[in-house]
Amino acid sequence: MANQTELESLQKKLRSAVKNREVVEQARQSQVSSLVQFVAKLSLTCKGLDLELDNRLAKFRAAINKGIDFEILKPLLDEITLLLAQQELRQSANIRELHQTVNDAGKRLQQSQGVPDALRRSLRNLLTTELDDIKATQDFVPVLSRLVDIYHQVLNNKHGDIQAAPQSLAPELAQELLNLTSQLAFEGNNAQEIDRIKHKIASNNQLSVLLDCCISIIRLIVATISQERQSAQTFLLAINETLALLHQSLLDSVNRSRDVGHRMAELNQQIDEKITLLNNETQAATSVTELKKLVGQKLEALTLDIKLKEELEIQERESISQSLHVMQKRIDILEKETKTYRDRLAEQKFKSLQDSLTKLPNRAAFDERLQFEYQSFKRTNKNLCLVVIDVDHFKSINDNYGHSAGDKTLQVIASALKKTIRTTDFIARFGGEEFTLIMPDSDLNQIIQPLEKIRKSIKSIPFKFKNTNVQITISIGATQFLPTDNPQEVFDRADEALYSAKNSGRDQLVIKK
Ligand code: GH3
Ligand code: MG
Ligand code: MG
Repeated sequence: MANQTELESLQKKLRSAVKNREVVEQARQSQVSSLVQFVAKLSLTCKGLDLELDNRLAKFRAAINKGIDFEILKPLLDEITLLLAQQELRQSANIRELHQTVNDAGKRLQQSQGVPDALRRSLRNLLTTELDDIKATQDFVPVLSRLVDIYHQVLNNKHGDIQAAPQSLAPELAQELLNLTSQLAFEGNNAQEIDRIKHKIASNNQLSVLLDCCISIIRLIVATISQERQSAQTFLLAINETLALLHQSLLDSVNRSRDVGHRMAELNQQIDEKITLLNNETQAATSVTELKKLVGQKLEALTLDIKLKEELEIQERESISQSLHVMQKRIDILEKETKTYRDRLAEQKFKSLQDSLTKLPNRAAFDERLQFEYQSFKRTNKNLCLVVIDVDHFKSINDNYGHSAGDKTLQVIASALKKTIRTTDFIARFGGEEFTLIMPDSDLNQIIQPLEKIRKSIKSIPFKFKNTNVQITISIGATQFLPTDNPQEVFDRADEALYSAKNSGRDQLVIKK
């Protein structure tokens, strides 16, 4: 009886174990099937990369759909693993190649002329930071579309199609226009007019207003050129007149000399004849009384002639000295006029290289000097560093305290920069709130201290606007000329360093080798 009960209990346990096993088996089956589905889906995502891989994956999918038989799956898995490894290698080669292509396309655009500064900067940022962050092929998509967008903007710009230019380009155009106007030197009323236009540009970003301003600036330039041409014409006319007068004076004095010469020759001949006659008559004279009378008469006539001759000579000398005096006076006047003109030309040349707001050398002067230092660097191989300085958050000064406060700030900063640099350095206002500094005969280690001094000196200026104390800081990017560099490459590198300084929180110096 006891055995019967034990048997029944055992049968019960067995049934429950079988049931449990069925449940586990079902669960396992469902897990395997979702795993199989997942692997199948995963294998589909690889589709299209490689024909052979596609074939193997299709086989693999078919095989696992039939069931998991490792005898069949193992060799397939091995082949697929190998193909995937090859695919990965190809993929990274592709990324490298694509990276190179995008970089080349960007570099070509960088090297082309007439790309506005702001676009050049976006492009540089794209080629350095954004392109370097790419890890997978799909990351190229936003970078490529940005590149296409920059190309598009450059093309728009090149066509000079103001009508088609999007309003978003206006701030950039306004900035460029402000930079250009600060390179023009005007005097008197024209200077006031150009100031008025500059304020209009700064306070209004409408394309139509910018276009108006452009036209007004061109009008001013044309007016100045025509004034300058008129004054050059007057000057040339004055020279011409003086030369004609001098010529006439010379002719007069030559003619007078010729007249006097003739009369002198006549007199000499008369004297000669009188002496010969006297000679003959004295020989023919028979008595001393007759001789005395004769000599007396003739000598009187001779003395008269000689007196006449002396008078003539004095007259001649006086007339020559008078002519010379007149000529000298005219030449003096001419010299004075020439000097005024020369001074004016020199002043103009100076002004065309000077920024009218800050009185620092302007961008044209900077370009000229950089070329000069670059040539000397190539010749002598002496160290040469280039630095770009940009005022931090300058726009907020304009926005909060007005454009005139902004202008005044730029003047104060410029004069502080001028005072703080070393005597051998060359500072210029590159445009807007950006300054460039050329530091000859120094390497990167040697410029750190003077540049830090500049940064701190600007930071310590006690600016006060609308009764508020304001601290203004600058960011600095610096680099050194390398033997293979050209000035544009060096400038770009310094600007990249500046960009890093801005990105790392501003108010700092970043050096880029
Ligand atoms: P960041 O720190 O990134 O350099 O910011 P930021 O505001 O200094 O730079 P952003 O380039 O955005 O603005 C520069 C501003 O400088 C915009 C422009 O109106 C102003 N600016 C440029 N030239 C002059 C000028 O001659 N006078 C005045 N008052 N402002 C100028
Ligand atoms: Mg700035
Ligand atoms: Mg700037």
